[in-house]
Amino acid sequence: MRLSNAYIPTLKEEPAEAEVVSHKLLVRAGMIRKVTSGIYTFLPLGLRALDKIAHVVREEMNRAGCQEIFMPMVQPGDLWKETGRWEYYGKELLRLKDRHDRDYCLGPTHEEVVTSLVRGEVRSYRQLPLNLYQIQTKFRDEIRPRFGLMRCREFIMKDAYSFDRDEAGAQKSYQTMFDAYTRAFQRLGLQFRAVEADSGAIGGSVSHEFMVLAATGEDTIASCAACEFAANLEKAEVVVPTDHPVGLCEAEASEVPTPGKHTVDEVATFLGVGADRIVKTLLYVADGEVVGALVRGDRELNETKLKNLLDVQSLELAGSELVERVSQAPVGFAGPKGLQVKRLYADLELQNGTDWVTGANRAETHLVHVDLQRDAAITAYADLRDVTSGDPCPRCGGELRFPQGIEVGHVFNLGTKYSAPMQALYLDENGKEREMVMGCYGIGVSRILAAAIEQNHDASGIMFPPSIAPYEIALLCLDTKNEEVRTKAEAFYETLQEQGVDVLYDDRVERPGFKFKDADLMGLPLQVVFGGKGVARGIVEVKDRRTGEKAELPLDGLAEAFA
Ligand code: ATP
Ligand code: MG
Ligand code: MG
Ligand code: MG
Repeated sequence: MRLSNAYIPTLKEEPAEAEVVSHKLLVRAGMIRKVTSGIYTFLPLGLRALDKIAHVVREEMNRAGCQEIFMPMVQPGDLWKETGRWEYYGKELLRLKDRHDRDYCLGPTHEEVVTSLVRGEVRSYRQLPLNLYQIQTKFRDEIRPRFGLMRCREFIMKDAYSFDRDEAGAQKSYQTMFDAYTRAFQRLGLQFRAVEADSGAIGGSVSHEFMVLAATGEDTIASCAACEFAANLEKAEVVVPTDHPVGLCEAEASEVPTPGKHTVDEVATFLGVGADRIVKTLLYVADGEVVGALVRGDRELNETKLKNLLDVQSLELAGSELVERVSQAPVGFAGPKGLQVKRLYADLELQNGTDWVTGANRAETHLVHVDLQRDAAITAYADLRDVTSGDPCPRCGGELRFPQGIEVGHVFNLGTKYSAPMQALYLDENGKEREMVMGCYGIGVSRILAAAIEQNHDASGIMFPPSIAPYEIALLCLDTKNEEVRTKAEAFYETLQEQGVDVLYDDRVERPGFKFKDADLMGLPLQVVFGGKGVARGIVEVKDRRTGEKAELPLDGLAEAFA
């Protein structure tokens, strides 16, 4: 591609609204443009990078025995009603009606559609296992789209769905996908960690997230310095004490469940929220009274809880106000753990005055420790201390660290959560009807582009890992008016193209400094520079974008060196 013809509008200035470096650089390097909140157009350079990521993901999926399909983005509401998610999914699901007044939604995920496909076709155990995947646009009406490609409303996901005969088969499929993810993220040049997604269920985790380690990540990971243990704290818990009349506990006395642990569905009914919003919930009941609700929900739910807890309408308070509010909250912050909560807020305020979302999640994790005076809450504490206390790694007793991470992938063992209500059944060897055991596996293809840049950049711009780079080589002709230089650069460009090398050729009539700046900004791994003096000496300069190392290569046989 010739830069003189390319639609790659690079910018000197940082976009005002961009908070994180990947967002700034994606816009400045002419890769994306915002259409509206959380919705972007990919320009040619951005699309090429996206395609490269998709290519690696696709190869690893195929290698793992998955088969690619392409499902619709618009999904009938009826399918979602079968699983109950039409009611439960919450506001991230964009629901719409067609001209006949029938319900539809934009797919935030595809369990319903894929299960309806398979249940109609797969009847025999001989047809299992089966793993179908797609790379496709998803829509989630995120409450707070931000950070450019990191948290969009419309984004590209690779989602795969496995169907097995039994739990043993499902576990094997899970492991196969886990390994495929590991390979894909390695090939993409990311520094990542697989972490247990359900922070409470030590050992028995049926879900792992793949986290790209980056300070700008929205997730907090508990990671042991001494052993392999790592878990996400995102699914934060909160104990809601009943002596504080908060929203979650405003149930009628008659509705209060009997003492003990309750199922997610029971608790969801009690709390008046969709079960789908809750990852895991325990209600702690003593003397017929709820003394604590331990809720692992999603962020939107957590926000509601925190608002209720602090008795505020909005969490859009400055950090200091929030600290103030927390310190006044009637839940009581006795003991060292209480102090820890305050300290957390104070730290956050110092670091990032308004980043209350992270603050809320982190603090909630620690609020659990606040209610120690009640026996029931001690149970909650015991359940949770594994990953939240900071002083016994649950596995080895080592010291826990809490780095930030960006979730780029998620593997999930679903059991029969979808196959049971949707009746995805098969006949086993004995002709007996059984439910398929499912798994689902997501990769944030467009989020990876942002995550890769978070990890690979310097003050001048992007430093693309080769597997993601939109082009392999930036060819810079510095002296376009010098006939010899131009002819040699043109010839090199033509030969590279014949050799199938992806090359971006800066043939523009611009100053050298301008071209170098753009090349560094776009971050292609290798720059090959044709200048007047060098060509006269029969050499070109080659620069490694990442290390900055430069070398001179003879013009003679140059193209062959890149063959
Ligand atoms: P998050 O916790 O960041 O909201 P999620 O757990 O809701 O993500 P999944 O349902 O696990 O996301 O979807 C699979 C993958 O899709 C995620 O691991 C992530 O990489 C990507 N993804 C999810 N939501 C978004 C989004 N709003 N924008 C970009 N990528 C996303
Ligand atoms: Mg989400
Ligand atoms: Mg998540
Ligand atoms: Mg996830």
